[in-house]
Amino acid sequence: MHIVYYTTSKTRCRLFICLLIIFLCAAVLFFVCAHSGAARPAAVQSLPLKGKVIVLDPGHGGYDPGVMKNGIEEKEIVLKIAFKLRDYLQAAGARVVMTRESDRDFLDVPAAGPKKQQDMTNRMQIVNAAGPDLFISLHVNAIGSPIWHGAQVFYKTDCTASKEYAEKIQQELRRVLGNTERQIKPGNYYVLNHADSAAVLVECGFLSHPREAQELCEPAYQSKVAWAVYGGILRSFLPEEAAVE
Ligand SMILES: [Zn+2]
Repeated sequence: MHIVYYTTSKTRCRLFICLLIIFLCAAVLFFVCAHSGAARPAAVQSLPLKGKVIVLDPGHGGYDPGVMKNGIEEKEIVLKIAFKLRDYLQAAGARVVMTRESDRDFLDVPAAGPKKQQDMTNRMQIVNAAGPDLFISLHVNAIGSPIWHGAQVFYKTDCTASKEYAEKIQQELRRVLGNTERQIKPGNYYVLNHADSAAVLVECGFLSHPREAQELCEPAYQSKVAWAVYGGILRSFLPEEAAVE
């Protein structure tokens, strides 16, 4: 009996120690979970673009290929970049409206009058109906000379907010792509002039520059462009110290 009593007491003691350890672990875990959020920056604490509405307009589409060079069409490249940018923005909590998600235009059926005007008017109706915080039109360039290259952001004239968005996005394009020193410019474009909201137009590069044309066709480079534009948007909406690297 003495042996049995000794064994039972020892077992109870072990059980007590086990329960104590479990309790202490749970207490430590609770304390860590309750206090870890306060130490994290805002950017990772929650969805940093939650509540923001951003309209993306992959330029051209359908009957209108945009600029073309060596079989490469602007409308196709900007749509791919727009999809990547959309994914980044949505992951950060933004509500993203795209003017097009396929190779389409915005002509009435049946089309009447000048096609380009009709396309742009209908396109901007979609943009303004969404009531965005920011409207971004994506394009690529092509000119006669093959020497010019680099992404460049244009902003809605006489709009301070648009200029600030443009500056942040251009800074990120310079930093992330590392291949241009281009500066922002006011842009006299239909889509900027007819946007009710802050608006920028991003020329993602030149199809007339052989190396850049090749890069613009590469998914990895398209992702870098989209990431840079996303980074600029994020820095525009967040305090500097909270933006992601
Ligand atoms: Zn264009």
